Amino acid sequence: MKKAVRLLLILTIVSFIAPVHAQDAKQKGLDAITQQAVKGQLEFLASDWTEGRATGQPGAYMAADYIASLFKVYGLQPAGDMEFERPTRAERMAGKRPSSYRTFYQSFNLIETRAGKDHELSLSETTAGGSRTLNFTYQTDFSVQASGVSTELELPIVFVGYGLTDEENGYDDFKDVDVKDKIILRLSGYPGHTDETSKAYDTFSSDWGRGRWTLMRAKNERASELGAAAVIEVNPGSDVGAAWAANLPFRVNSGNYEGVKPRASYYETRMSLPGNELSSATVRITVSDRVMNELVKGTGVDLEAFQEKVKSSLKPDSKALAGKKLRVKTTVDSKLIRARNVVGVLPGKDTTEIIVVGGHYDHLGIHDGWIWNGADDNGSGTVGVMSIARACMATGEKPEKTIVFCAWTGEEKGLLGSRYFADHPYNDAKMILNLNYDMISRDNTNDSLGNMCSMNYTKAYSVLEDLTNNNIEEYDLDLDVAFRPAARPRGGSDHSSFSAKDIPIMYFMAGFPPEYHQPDDHLKLINWEKMTNIIKIGYLNIWDLANTEWGADETE
Ligand SMILES: [Zn+2]
Repeated sequence: MKKAVRLLLILTIVSFIAPVHAQDAKQKGLDAITQQAVKGQLEFLASDWTEGRATGQPGAYMAADYIASLFKVYGLQPAGDMEFERPTRAERMAGKRPSSYRTFYQSFNLIETRAGKDHELSLSETTAGGSRTLNFTYQTDFSVQASGVSTELELPIVFVGYGLTDEENGYDDFKDVDVKDKIILRLSGYPGHTDETSKAYDTFSSDWGRGRWTLMRAKNERASELGAAAVIEVNPGSDVGAAWAANLPFRVNSGNYEGVKPRASYYETRMSLPGNELSSATVRITVSDRVMNELVKGTGVDLEAFQEKVKSSLKPDSKALAGKKLRVKTTVDSKLIRARNVVGVLPGKDTTEIIVVGGHYDHLGIHDGWIWNGADDNGSGTVGVMSIARACMATGEKPEKTIVFCAWTGEEKGLLGSRYFADHPYNDAKMILNLNYDMISRDNTNDSLGNMCSMNYTKAYSVLEDLTNNNIEEYDLDLDVAFRPAARPRGGSDHSSFSAKDIPIMYFMAGFPPEYHQPDDHLKLINWEKMTNIIKIGYLNIWDLANTEWGADETE
């Protein structure tokens, strides 16, 4: 089906089931989205009182209570966990039975881990003449990423190039080596990543050059899958002092502020959903160049020569490091955290299908006394969710389909709240769409008119793009939307949790400002007009999608 025909079809459907009073209702909802209401919500949510809303911290509890209380004010029904009320003895005598009621909170467990203080890394070698052991020093020659449990092991080492498996391009560093229950030594990056003129760069950069974390995650998952016991990574020539020095300056944007102790970092602690096994038991260690040199010395492995060769040959050259063993001892401190999503529902006439409108309310908390307010990330998106809830209630109508409004926790720790909800949804109704808002209030440097934003969406649902264009035109919204369709949209925000389950998504973002994940992501930098318009387009789309029949494109 051609696009124009499809759009016409939508419009016909809308006008068919949308008599005048329904249009009035939709307008009433839109009128409830005002800059004043948007400010009123965000000014509290991103104030110092909520202490940066770090998952599991008191500030996040306060923020969640605030969101739940406004959900209640707007008239949503609770869609979180059940609570039970036990009558007192006297009440029981008077005939009162235990009762239960639903809350706005979906609570779940997270495990918070951080690297402990004691870590050991030593290399033992056997040569013709005898043997020797080298004990390296923590934070001088190596650092440790917290994994699931404290670990102690001594195992042989295998050099695995970049530790990359790229089936599409027929490249696999693990092709000729067995790494099960071994320690792997790998380089950062991917073949050719330092040389834009190389054939390898040409081949791999479009898949792996975009996000350091995406690459790292893919490599780590592959290593675990193959049963590697530990990963040793080195980035040859990198300045390890910039990360490990004991007198590290506290960086704010590009300016450095000297400190007398290492700065506290949000990334020192990790959180994960407990699951049923210790899945992240693969130890990950970063080493300095001089440790790397000791590891490969006398084994015939030449890292520099490998990097040069693979750039044009695109051939792996992995190899076990004969006669060498590494002993690794790492410690992990962990604790259990109780976290909460906030979930409210506007039941439709049909409760078998639900639309999930969500955004994460958690942010980075307090470090070194600085409160990281996260006004844009993601106070703005949370207010987007709350404002759409308010607008839908202001229509005074029951929509055809059910709309669930969610404020996620744990996003900054790995999309944990949305993932938990996607696995344990509100009920057994079918989730037919997720609208995600993350960072909807700032401008990129090239956004001179202050009206640009992006919308990622599931490619097979071009109705989402058509509808957006249609509503922007009909309601004369000052928005310049860059559409980014993908078969299964991914990326570092909560829509990925739904996309991964083949639920179509629509994700709005306004820009990627320099204050992203800095303590100065403040209220004073918000573009209120754009934020309000992005909320309006989200509401208009959701209201239409909750009141019409729509679906994936027909394939010819
Ligand atoms: Zn965010």
